[in-house]
Amino acid sequence: MGEGEPSMADYLISGGTGYVPEDGLTAQQLFATSEGLTYNDFLILPGFIDFTADEVDLTSALTRKITLKTPLISSPMDTVTEAEMAIAMALMGGIGIIHHNCTPEFQANEVRKVKKFEQGFITDPVVLSPTQTVGDVWEAKARHGFSGIPVTQTGRLGSKLEGMVTSRDIDFLGERDHGMRLGEVMTKRNDLVVAPAGITLKEANEILQRSKKGKLPIVNSSDELVAIIARTDLKKNREHPLASKDGRKQLLCGAAIGTREDDKYRLDLLVQASVDLVVLDSSQGNSIYQISMIQYIKHKYPELQVIGGNVVTAAQAKNLIDAGVDALRVGMGCGSICITQEGRCHLPRATQCPLTPPLAPNWEGFWVMACGRPQGTAVYKVAEYARRFGVPVIADGGIRTVGHVVKALALGASTVMMGSLLAATTEAPGEFFFSEGVRLKQYRGMGSLDAMEKSSSSQKRYFSEGDKVKVAQGVSGSIQDKGSIHKFVPYLIAGIQHGCQDIGARSLSVLRSMMYSGELKFEKRTMAAQIEGGVHGLHSYEKRLY
Ligand code: GDP
Ligand code: GDP
Ligand code: 5GP
Repeated sequence: MGEGEPSMADYLISGGTGYVPEDGLTAQQLFATSEGLTYNDFLILPGFIDFTADEVDLTSALTRKITLKTPLISSPMDTVTEAEMAIAMALMGGIGIIHHNCTPEFQANEVRKVKKFEQGFITDPVVLSPTQTVGDVWEAKARHGFSGIPVTQTGRLGSKLEGMVTSRDIDFLGERDHGMRLGEVMTKRNDLVVAPAGITLKEANEILQRSKKGKLPIVNSSDELVAIIARTDLKKNREHPLASKDGRKQLLCGAAIGTREDDKYRLDLLVQASVDLVVLDSSQGNSIYQISMIQYIKHKYPELQVIGGNVVTAAQAKNLIDAGVDALRVGMGCGSICITQEGRCHLPRATQCPLTPPLAPNWEGFWVMACGRPQGTAVYKVAEYARRFGVPVIADGGIRTVGHVVKALALGASTVMMGSLLAATTEAPGEFFFSEGVRLKQYRGMGSLDAMEKSSSSQKRYFSEGDKVKVAQGVSGSIQDKGSIHKFVPYLIAGIQHGCQDIGARSLSVLRSMMYSGELKFEKRTMAAQIEGGVHGLHSYEKRLY
């Protein structure tokens, strides 16, 4: 297009055939009914495209202070998020929330693994002394996963650098040499390339690249070790340009906790492990317990981001916003494994799953509670209220397709939390198993009897202290192998970008402002329309998504 020429958009707006009648409903009109709506009940009308899908910017707020390049979160469930999932999610620009159906020590250690996976300056590196042995290096490798270790006079950081030992120094040594002192095998100080303290990370990386070494020790003017940087981290950084990181270039990681007195100990351990945010994990977050926990955390750790929830109404949201939350988790009873909304109380364990589509064969559970809200309405109502206070909303649960992600974002959610969609991937906890020739992994609700029997923390989430009879609020099932998150999340990202392109939104912030200005139009979908929208009329077909 030459300079001064009108763009296609200018042409369409100023000329053409003139008047276009109003079509579709604004979000406000769509939700001005007494019925609650869920993602499948409506569609978004397409807009005008003048950009490519890969230009769509998915940057979005996770909390008041944390922004993600990919608006995707893995749920704190024991079949979804431990360190491996959280690392993969953060590398791709999202974040994982480590579950708390485990001891505080185990959970804090998972957080530590995420935070240590990739770094800028490693300011607390493992250090050995010249009198320690080759066996100590092997032990460090077994425990931490790396063997590039600086050697200082005292074996501590802040002491005089004497050398460096790496796998190349010890690879060819046999069992018999495990007692050899590091002073004999290490690369000595005179042969090391080092950088001075105070150098920027960029400059240090340049030296590291030029030196062709694996590690660069950083020393002060007295030649004492203050930090190291690792070549591997440069590579990891290049391969994952979207990665979610803190100021020290460590991956972002969240963790879930409850609202009991003993959760304060858990909180302390998580903070010591450098957790970036905590999620107060409750299915009904509007409680005096959650409010006092938010106040306690904000007082003790003012910098820690706190996500409250779950809520589905503006009234619930108000109390948590007043208490000081940095984001809200929205959804009650919409999760794929969830039975909180069901009114058919105490139906005995059935032999056939009554859900459509049915859950995998080995599900179990009871039907419970009668409280909740269809997720479309919940997200819209809470987001519309919370935005006035600058509090971002996480749409949690009920996401079954990439289209649902786009709809959640179009209704005002800033990010989306997923359980079942990310379960049964390579990075999800648990082993694959075969059932009738199909490769499966377990996926279960944190309120399922199965999960509650594992540890007391999910019991606390779904039971009162004095409850004698256990009432499950979730089921336990299995899901077919989905392969690696490293393939699945890029598919989700591309799918969201395509959805935004069809809508005519170049970014998620444009998408939200189009919705609130009324420019974005929706339409309700009848049952027949939903059937029309699915694959139909074929004798058989194969559904491959990516
Ligand atoms: P090595 O060659 O066996 O030392 O391992 P790599 O250099 O391939 O990997 C080291 C990885 O571990 C990097 O991503 C580091 O950021 C991370 N790491 C975390 N803490 C430490 C530490 O104390 N020392 C070292 N060497 N690496 C660490
Ligand atoms: P839920 O997931 O909606 O059940 O909500 P919570 O995890 O906040 O709470 C689970 C149950 O424990 C509910 O009955 C709460 O009222 C109760 N509860 C939550 N925190 C505390 C607490 O600190 N002390 C006591 N005594 N009960 C609590
Ligand atoms: P999904 O993505 O599988 O549809 O939903 C995941 C969400 O369901 C979780 O993030 C959590 O909020 C919710 N959830 C997890 N376990 C249970 C449960 O046992 N009962 C209920 N009611 N909700 C659950």
